[in-house]
Amino acid sequence: MELKDLKKVGPKTIECLNKLNIYSIDDLIFYYPYRYNIYKPVDIIKEDLTDTITINAVIESIPKIVYIRKNLNRISFQALTNNLVINVSIFNRAFLSSNLKVGKNIILIGRYERKKNNFVASDLKFGWIKDLKIEPVYHVIKGLKNTNLNSYIVEALKNKQEVVDYVPDYLNNAYNFIEKKEALDFIHQPCNFEQIKKAKLKLIYEELFLFMLKINFLKVDNEKIKGLPRNFDMEKVNDFIDNLPFLLTLDQQKAIIDCLNDLRSQKRMNRLVQGDVGSGKTIVSIVVMYANALSAYQSALMAPTEILAIQHYENIKKLMGIYNIKVALLVGNQKKSERKEILEKLQRGEIDIIIGTHALISDNVEFKNLGLVVTDEQHRFGVNQRNNLHNKGVKPDIIYMSATPIPRTYALTIYNDMDTSIIKTKPSGRKEIKTFLKKESELKDVLKEILKEIKKGHQIYVVAPAINEENEEVWNVNALKKSFDKAFLENVKISILHGKMKAQEKEEIMQAFKAGEIKILIATTVIEVGVDVKNATTIVIFNAERYGLATLHQLRGRVGRNEIDSYCYLISNKDVDRLKVLEQSNDGFYISEQDFLMRREGDLFGTRQSGDMVFKIADLRKDFKILLQAKKDSEKFLKEGNHKEAKYMNILNNITTID
Ligand code: ADP
Ligand code: MG
Repeated sequence: MELKDLKKVGPKTIECLNKLNIYSIDDLIFYYPYRYNIYKPVDIIKEDLTDTITINAVIESIPKIVYIRKNLNRISFQALTNNLVINVSIFNRAFLSSNLKVGKNIILIGRYERKKNNFVASDLKFGWIKDLKIEPVYHVIKGLKNTNLNSYIVEALKNKQEVVDYVPDYLNNAYNFIEKKEALDFIHQPCNFEQIKKAKLKLIYEELFLFMLKINFLKVDNEKIKGLPRNFDMEKVNDFIDNLPFLLTLDQQKAIIDCLNDLRSQKRMNRLVQGDVGSGKTIVSIVVMYANALSAYQSALMAPTEILAIQHYENIKKLMGIYNIKVALLVGNQKKSERKEILEKLQRGEIDIIIGTHALISDNVEFKNLGLVVTDEQHRFGVNQRNNLHNKGVKPDIIYMSATPIPRTYALTIYNDMDTSIIKTKPSGRKEIKTFLKKESELKDVLKEILKEIKKGHQIYVVAPAINEENEEVWNVNALKKSFDKAFLENVKISILHGKMKAQEKEEIMQAFKAGEIKILIATTVIEVGVDVKNATTIVIFNAERYGLATLHQLRGRVGRNEIDSYCYLISNKDVDRLKVLEQSNDGFYISEQDFLMRREGDLFGTRQSGDMVFKIADLRKDFKILLQAKKDSEKFLKEGNHKEAKYMNILNNITTID
């Protein structure tokens, strides 16, 4: 069965479904509601009636429609509810009028005013609720109604004979879980709360069990793989470190020692280097890549964006220049001939360090002897992507760098397959970024502060959630550019930067900003990770309420990169209590804990648009106990070899290559 076989599903609906990443019947039935509307009918004679209520009623009189003006109409009629005739009115439901026949059972949701015997309905449904109606609510988009989506899902479920249950029988029995199919039925069409609870428990457990199974499988797999014991001259490495333009912090040194020990050892390195924004993770990986080059192996550094890849390239090229280490950049917009040459050189071993985006792992890039892969901002990669890296060359060592401070207990679970080094201290001389929460009405003051900074020769980032007016509720980059141009008449060069621009254009703008030609850069969160422009001292973030604290902290980390005073202005009219955490603290670990306490798990890891760290139904915070149990269970499951069953291997083979 395919989507198009469902009743009332045509090309338009399929287009909408695709936008929600629903392409198949399976996608559809695993598209879970994020909450439920609860309708419990009351007796309006008895109830104390100030809130929105639900009542069962029967239509008593022929409805009258009044067209008040364009886009505003009202239907009114009388209805009988529990032996009481009431006056009902509902706005903008003219399209329902032909169905509103006398004698029909309806469900009314709205407010009742006893004095006037008036019921103003906000919603009207057909039917009769016996004692409780639970309506699943899904994330939908324009053109797709919630109730329709639910009916497609229900039809798909009816036609679905079998669903794979990844919870092994002995665990299903031990925990008294319901069957997977039943869980899906319950989650999409529950009759009572008990069913939702049972369904959720089963599906959450299954999701976390599979997740931990993957992680633990990677761990076991990793331990089996022999690494490449590397040989390099430590004196040369020390020289390299001595010649850096700054002294390494103690934590940086420790992280480097961890990595170098891994390089030397028989074991294959699989290390997470965690450190707050600006803690200086890059240089750690650079030193390790240098040592790797000394041992005559190649390194690949992967960044989440091209902007960042280019920045790393320039930085590394400068540092490696005098040591005759060959560095190259591989990004999307290069000429074919240039690209071809780089690929050939990689194959011949004439490039020691290649820098690119994570396209490096998917493209047909062949190495002569890849010994080390470094991935920057690892939280952008899911567990499935983690192991794709194993494919190239001879089982390279891997370093993941992440600026997302994850509370330790969680890190131990979800990064269980890796060793970790943590960089806690920041390079000396760094000042705290002064952060201020401002209402939109206080923008003028912010503009004044910006002008002051520009007069000092400093530069400014401005961040907004949208590019165009497509969403009227939030600020957008283009509109801000217009307003800022107006506000700064005097020769201040302002440019915009966003993800929809061509790579070349983005690069040119970034270069101009780095060179100080552009004074104010108005961008979407493309600048979120890693961009390093020391002269930028102020960042203004519009609609700050739209982001998780961890993301805001990352964004803020674009400034405060030297000894000059730096400022962050969070513009928001909402959600003030949460945002205050940022005014009060510059400590990424503290902020992530607070984020964790206050918001959904999804924000904990910053913006994770990709990767399967995004859970469909589990919530790492709420379901942490289940996660721990799933971890234990999956370890035992693996140890006993149960994962060799085909349905598990199908999944596990996709995350790793065993050779
Ligand atoms: P992040 O950990 O956020 O990736 P980076 O590696 O980009 O941070 O480092 C931020 C900036 O700090 C860079 O400009 C880098 O050159 C500089 N830096 C790194 N280590 C030190 C240090 N020990 N002393 C002074 N500056 C440093
Ligand atoms: Mg970085």
